[in-house]
Amino acid sequence: MNIILLGPPGAGKGTQAKILQERYHVGQIATGDMLRGEVKAGTELGKIAKSVMEAGELVSDDLIINMLRNRLAQDDCRHGFILDGFPRTVPQAEALDAMLAAEKQDLRAVILLKVDEDVLVERIAGRFTCAQCGTGYHDSMHPTAKAGVCDKCGSTEFTRRPDDNPVTVKQRFTAYNRQTAPIVPYYQGRHIYYEVDGMADMDDVTVAIEAALRAAGIPAPVAMSAD
Ligand code: ADP
Ligand code: ADP
Ligand code: ZN
Repeated sequence: MNIILLGPPGAGKGTQAKILQERYHVGQIATGDMLRGEVKAGTELGKIAKSVMEAGELVSDDLIINMLRNRLAQDDCRHGFILDGFPRTVPQAEALDAMLAAEKQDLRAVILLKVDEDVLVERIAGRFTCAQCGTGYHDSMHPTAKAGVCDKCGSTEFTRRPDDNPVTVKQRFTAYNRQTAPIVPYYQGRHIYYEVDGMADMDDVTVAIEAALRAAGIPAPVAMSAD
Protein backbone atom coordinates (compact mmCIF):
# COMPACT_ATOMS: atom_id res chain seq x y z
CA MET A 1 0.00 0.00 0.00
CA ASN A 2 1.33 3.41 -0.94
CA ILE A 3 -0.40 6.18 0.95
CA ILE A 4 0.05 9.89 1.63
CA LEU A 5 -0.88 11.72 4.82
CA LEU A 6 -1.51 15.37 4.00
CA GLY A 7 -2.15 18.23 6.36
CA PRO A 8 -0.80 21.48 7.76
CA PRO A 9 2.04 21.65 10.32
CA GLY A 10 0.88 20.09 13.59
CA ALA A 11 -2.07 18.20 12.07
CA GLY A 12 -0.85 14.88 13.47
CA LYS A 13 0.75 13.40 10.34
CA GLY A 14 3.87 12.15 12.14
CA THR A 15 1.87 10.80 15.07
CA GLN A 16 -0.47 8.83 12.83
CA ALA A 17 2.21 7.73 10.35
CA LYS A 18 4.16 6.07 13.17
CA ILE A 19 1.06 4.21 14.36
CA LEU A 20 0.17 3.07 10.84
CA GLN A 21 3.74 2.01 10.11
CA GLU A 22 3.67 -0.44 13.01
CA ARG A 23 0.22 -1.76 12.22
CA TYR A 24 0.60 -2.18 8.47
CA HIS A 25 4.34 -2.95 8.38
CA VAL A 26 5.22 -0.45 5.70
CA GLY A 27 7.93 2.18 5.53
CA GLN A 28 7.27 5.62 6.99
CA ILE A 29 8.89 8.41 5.05
CA ALA A 30 8.94 11.78 6.80
CA THR A 31 10.84 14.26 4.66
CA GLY A 32 11.09 16.71 7.59
CA ASP A 33 12.76 14.03 9.76
CA MET A 34 15.09 13.15 6.90
CA LEU A 35 16.09 16.79 6.47
CA ARG A 36 16.69 17.21 10.22
CA GLY A 37 18.96 14.15 9.95
CA GLU A 38 20.89 15.78 7.10
CA VAL A 39 21.25 19.00 9.12
CA LYS A 40 22.53 17.06 12.12
CA ALA A 41 24.99 15.10 9.99
CA GLY A 42 26.23 18.34 8.40
CA THR A 43 25.85 17.10 4.81
CA GLU A 44 25.75 19.44 1.80
CA LEU A 45 21.98 19.03 1.66
CA GLY A 46 21.77 19.67 5.39
CA LYS A 47 23.71 22.91 5.05
CA ILE A 48 21.31 24.17 2.40
CA ALA A 49 18.20 22.93 4.21
CA LYS A 50 19.10 24.40 7.61
CA SER A 51 18.52 28.06 6.82
CA VAL A 52 15.45 27.30 4.68
CA MET A 53 13.86 25.32 7.52
CA GLU A 54 14.75 27.98 10.08
CA ALA A 55 12.93 30.50 7.90
CA GLY A 56 9.87 28.24 7.70
CA GLU A 57 10.12 28.03 3.93
CA LEU A 58 10.20 25.01 1.64
CA VAL A 59 13.38 23.30 0.49
CA SER A 60 13.61 23.33 -3.32
CA ASP A 61 11.68 20.70 -5.27
CA ASP A 62 14.81 19.35 -7.01
CA LEU A 63 16.61 18.59 -3.75
CA ILE A 64 13.56 17.07 -2.11
CA ILE A 65 12.55 14.94 -5.08
CA ASN A 66 16.08 13.61 -5.37
CA MET A 67 16.17 12.75 -1.67
CA LEU A 68 12.80 11.00 -1.93
CA ARG A 69 13.82 8.99 -4.99
CA ASN A 70 16.78 7.54 -3.07
CA ARG A 71 14.60 6.80 -0.07
CA LEU A 72 11.93 4.97 -2.07
CA ALA A 73 14.62 2.64 -3.40
CA GLN A 74 15.35 1.36 0.13
CA ASP A 75 14.31 -2.06 1.31
CA ASP A 76 11.63 -1.14 3.85
CA CYS A 77 9.57 0.51 1.08
CA ARG A 78 9.30 -2.68 -0.98
CA HIS A 79 5.87 -3.46 0.46
CA GLY A 80 4.69 0.11 0.38
CA PHE A 81 5.11 3.38 2.19
CA ILE A 82 3.39 6.08 4.18
CA LEU A 83 4.47 9.53 3.11
CA ASP A 84 4.38 12.24 5.78
CA GLY A 85 5.39 15.74 4.68
CA PHE A 86 5.70 14.91 0.98
CA PRO A 87 4.45 16.05 -1.49
CA ARG A 88 4.30 19.71 -0.48
CA THR A 89 4.03 21.28 -3.93
CA VAL A 90 2.31 20.37 -7.18
CA PRO A 91 5.66 19.63 -8.92
CA GLN A 92 6.48 17.20 -6.06
CA ALA A 93 3.09 15.49 -6.52
CA GLU A 94 3.72 15.19 -10.25
CA ALA A 95 7.23 13.81 -9.68
CA LEU A 96 5.84 11.19 -7.29
CA ASP A 97 3.28 10.06 -9.86
CA ALA A 98 6.05 9.74 -12.45
CA MET A 99 8.30 7.75 -10.07
CA LEU A 100 5.48 5.37 -9.20
CA ALA A 101 4.44 4.95 -12.84
CA ALA A 102 8.03 4.04 -13.73
CA GLU A 103 7.87 1.23 -11.13
CA LYS A 104 4.37 0.20 -12.27
CA GLN A 105 3.03 1.15 -8.85
CA ASP A 106 0.24 3.45 -7.83
CA LEU A 107 -1.08 5.49 -4.93
CA ARG A 108 -3.75 3.72 -2.94
CA ALA A 109 -4.95 6.57 -0.72
CA VAL A 110 -4.35 10.25 -0.04
CA ILE A 111 -5.67 11.30 3.37
CA LEU A 112 -6.02 14.92 4.44
CA LEU A 113 -6.03 15.55 8.20
CA LYS A 114 -8.20 18.62 8.79
CA VAL A 115 -7.41 20.73 11.88
CA ASP A 116 -8.27 24.37 12.68
CA GLU A 117 -5.37 26.80 12.82
CA ASP A 118 -5.78 27.80 16.49
CA VAL A 119 -5.51 24.13 17.48
CA LEU A 120 -2.45 23.70 15.24
CA VAL A 121 -0.73 26.59 17.01
CA GLU A 122 -1.42 24.99 20.39
CA ARG A 123 -0.22 21.58 19.24
CA ILE A 124 3.02 22.90 17.80
CA ALA A 125 3.76 25.03 20.88
CA GLY A 126 3.66 21.94 23.14
CA ARG A 127 5.30 19.42 20.83
CA PHE A 128 8.40 17.49 21.91
CA THR A 129 10.05 14.29 20.71
CA CYS A 130 12.06 11.47 22.23
CA ALA A 131 15.67 11.99 21.16
CA GLN A 132 16.23 8.23 21.16
CA CYS A 133 13.26 6.67 19.32
CA GLY A 134 11.49 9.66 17.79
CA THR A 135 8.14 9.13 19.51
CA GLY A 136 6.17 12.37 19.54
CA TYR A 137 4.56 13.89 22.65
CA HIS A 138 2.73 17.02 23.74
CA ASP A 139 3.10 18.88 27.06
CA SER A 140 -0.63 18.77 27.85
CA MET A 141 -2.38 16.81 25.07
CA HIS A 142 -0.10 13.76 24.99
CA PRO A 143 2.43 13.77 27.84
CA THR A 144 4.67 10.82 28.72
CA ALA A 145 3.09 8.48 31.28
CA LYS A 146 5.99 9.12 33.67
CA ALA A 147 7.32 12.67 33.60
CA GLY A 148 10.60 12.92 31.69
CA VAL A 149 10.69 9.27 30.58
CA CYS A 150 9.76 8.04 27.09
CA ASP A 151 6.87 5.53 27.21
CA LYS A 152 8.34 3.57 24.38
CA CYS A 153 12.07 3.28 25.00
CA GLY A 154 12.67 4.66 28.51
CA SER A 155 14.98 7.41 27.29
CA THR A 156 15.12 10.60 29.36
CA GLU A 157 16.30 12.82 26.51
CA PHE A 158 13.87 14.83 24.46
CA THR A 159 14.14 17.45 21.76
CA ARG A 160 12.08 20.44 20.66
CA ARG A 161 12.25 21.65 17.09
CA PRO A 162 13.87 25.06 16.59
CA ASP A 163 11.27 25.84 13.91
CA ASP A 164 8.40 25.27 16.37
CA ASN A 165 8.60 28.91 17.51
CA PRO A 166 5.71 31.36 16.91
CA VAL A 167 7.45 33.44 14.22
CA THR A 168 8.58 30.47 12.11
CA VAL A 169 5.27 28.69 12.61
CA LYS A 170 3.47 31.64 11.07
CA GLN A 171 5.72 31.44 8.02
CA ARG A 172 5.16 27.66 7.81
CA PHE A 173 1.39 28.21 7.73
CA THR A 174 1.86 30.76 4.94
CA ALA A 175 3.98 28.24 3.01
CA TYR A 176 1.32 25.57 3.55
CA ASN A 177 -1.52 27.77 2.35
CA ARG A 178 0.37 29.10 -0.66
CA GLN A 179 2.33 26.08 -1.85
CA THR A 180 0.90 22.92 -0.30
CA ALA A 181 -2.87 23.50 -0.17
CA PRO A 182 -2.98 23.62 -4.02
CA ILE A 183 -2.12 19.92 -4.14
CA VAL A 184 -5.50 19.09 -2.60
CA PRO A 185 -7.33 19.75 -5.90
CA TYR A 186 -4.57 17.76 -7.62
CA TYR A 187 -5.78 14.64 -5.77
CA GLN A 188 -9.41 15.54 -5.10
CA GLY A 189 -10.68 14.41 -8.47
CA ARG A 190 -9.36 10.90 -7.94
CA HIS A 191 -11.32 8.35 -5.95
CA ILE A 192 -8.31 7.76 -3.67
CA TYR A 193 -8.76 11.10 -1.83
CA TYR A 194 -10.19 11.12 1.71
CA GLU A 195 -10.63 13.77 4.40
CA VAL A 196 -10.39 12.89 8.10
CA ASP A 197 -11.26 15.04 11.12
CA GLY A 198 -7.83 15.56 12.68
CA MET A 199 -9.32 17.48 15.64
CA ALA A 200 -10.53 14.26 17.27
CA ASP A 201 -8.61 12.31 19.90
CA MET A 202 -5.54 10.52 18.57
CA ASP A 203 -7.10 7.04 18.74
CA ASP A 204 -10.24 8.24 16.99
CA VAL A 205 -8.16 9.78 14.22
CA THR A 206 -6.45 6.41 13.74
CA VAL A 207 -9.85 4.69 13.56
CA ALA A 208 -11.05 7.22 10.97
CA ILE A 209 -7.91 6.80 8.86
CA GLU A 210 -8.31 3.03 8.95
CA ALA A 211 -11.92 3.40 7.82
CA ALA A 212 -10.70 5.49 4.88
CA LEU A 213 -8.05 2.87 4.09
CA ARG A 214 -10.70 0.12 4.15
CA ALA A 215 -12.81 2.20 1.77
CA ALA A 216 -9.73 2.39 -0.44
CA GLY A 217 -9.53 -1.42 -0.40
CA ILE A 218 -6.78 -1.74 2.21
CA PRO A 219 -7.89 -4.02 5.06
CA ALA A 220 -6.65 -3.46 8.63
CA PRO A 221 -4.04 -6.17 9.37
CA VAL A 222 -4.91 -6.78 13.04
CA ALA A 223 -7.80 -5.88 15.34
CA MET A 224 -7.48 -2.65 17.37
CA SER A 225 -7.03 -3.29 21.08
CA ALA A 226 -10.13 -2.53 23.15
CA ASP A 227 -8.52 -0.07 25.57
P1 ADP B 1 5.56 19.77 9.94
O1 ADP B 1 5.65 18.91 11.13
O2 ADP B 1 5.37 21.21 10.24
O3 ADP B 1 4.57 19.31 8.92
P2 ADP B 1 8.03 18.76 8.72
O4 ADP B 1 8.82 18.12 9.78
O5 ADP B 1 7.30 17.89 7.75
O6 ADP B 1 7.03 19.85 9.34
O7 ADP B 1 8.99 19.74 7.86
C1 ADP B 1 9.85 20.67 8.49
C2 ADP B 1 10.48 21.57 7.42
O8 ADP B 1 11.25 20.76 6.49
C3 ADP B 1 9.50 22.32 6.53
O9 ADP B 1 9.10 23.54 7.13
C4 ADP B 1 10.33 22.54 5.27
O10 ADP B 1 11.26 23.60 5.43
C5 ADP B 1 11.13 21.24 5.16
N1 ADP B 1 10.43 20.21 4.35
C6 ADP B 1 9.96 19.01 4.79
N2 ADP B 1 9.38 18.32 3.79
C7 ADP B 1 9.49 19.10 2.68
C8 ADP B 1 9.07 18.96 1.32
N3 ADP B 1 8.41 17.86 0.90
N4 ADP B 1 9.35 19.99 0.47
C9 ADP B 1 10.01 21.09 0.87
N5 ADP B 1 10.42 21.29 2.13
C10 ADP B 1 10.18 20.30 3.04
P1 ADP C 1 2.67 16.89 12.14
O1 ADP C 1 3.57 15.71 11.87
O2 ADP C 1 1.46 16.89 11.24
O3 ADP C 1 3.38 18.20 12.12
P2 ADP C 1 2.55 15.80 14.88
O4 ADP C 1 2.16 14.39 14.65
O5 ADP C 1 3.96 16.09 15.23
O6 ADP C 1 2.09 16.71 13.62
O7 ADP C 1 1.58 16.41 16.02
C1 ADP C 1 1.76 17.72 16.52
C2 ADP C 1 1.57 17.73 18.04
O8 ADP C 1 0.20 17.46 18.36
C3 ADP C 1 2.38 16.67 18.78
O9 ADP C 1 2.82 17.24 20.00
C4 ADP C 1 1.39 15.53 19.03
O10 ADP C 1 1.70 14.83 20.21
C5 ADP C 1 0.07 16.28 19.14
N1 ADP C 1 -1.08 15.56 18.56
C6 ADP C 1 -1.10 14.81 17.43
N2 ADP C 1 -2.33 14.33 17.18
C7 ADP C 1 -3.14 14.80 18.18
C8 ADP C 1 -4.54 14.66 18.48
N3 ADP C 1 -5.37 13.95 17.70
N4 ADP C 1 -5.00 15.29 19.58
C9 ADP C 1 -4.17 16.03 20.37
N5 ADP C 1 -2.85 16.19 20.14
C10 ADP C 1 -2.32 15.59 19.06
ZN1 ZN D 1 11.76 6.94 23.12
